[in-house]
Amino acid sequence: MDKITWEEFEDKCRACHNCDLRDGAHNVVIYRGGRNAPLMIVGEAPGEQEDIKGLPFVGRSGQLLQNLLASYGFTDEDYHICNIAKCRPPENRRPTPAEIKACKPLLAMQFTLVRPKVILLCGSTAYEGFFGTKPSMKDVRGHMIEKNGYYIMTTYHPAYALRNPKNKLPIYEDMGAVRNKLTEIGAMPPLEPIDK
Ligand code: URA
Repeated sequence: MDKITWEEFEDKCRACHNCDLRDGAHNVVIYRGGRNAPLMIVGEAPGEQEDIKGLPFVGRSGQLLQNLLASYGFTDEDYHICNIAKCRPPENRRPTPAEIKACKPLLAMQFTLVRPKVILLCGSTAYEGFFGTKPSMKDVRGHMIEKNGYYIMTTYHPAYALRNPKNKLPIYEDMGAVRNKLTEIGAMPPLEPIDK
């Protein structure tokens, strides 16, 4: 079969009714950033702002993520941001295992379209959606692993840092390791030193 195009993929996402979340959502939130970015960032599910705008991570968590990306010299084409679930769950609850399962074929298609080099899983729902097991975040975060031809890093969800600014440090460290890996494998140039 020929490879699906982006337009076909996005049409599939918008037409999806594999679970009930679509009925309560304004938009199917597919991605923002580059289509062939070396880094794919996976969050949990759209919140209120994301549902309204039809774009992932555009609320407070998104602002923090954006600052983080900017501080490591990522341009909009260097990252592709998406979620485990593409429709907003009511009252921002976590997507259920059944909803995650229903959305998984679309996420799998998205991986084959983007073909990232490094995947950053943000938070326990992203981890569980990807690996199928519940993580102890303090044990799994911060380790770069290699699986199915991808380098995969797990970190805390940016909302965790919003709850307490002290929690920003591990997320910064993990993004730094992601940035170094992208340089090491030649997917991004080295970070320019900041002029004093
Ligand atoms: N939190 C997420 O996990 N994803 C979003 O898109 C926004 C907030």
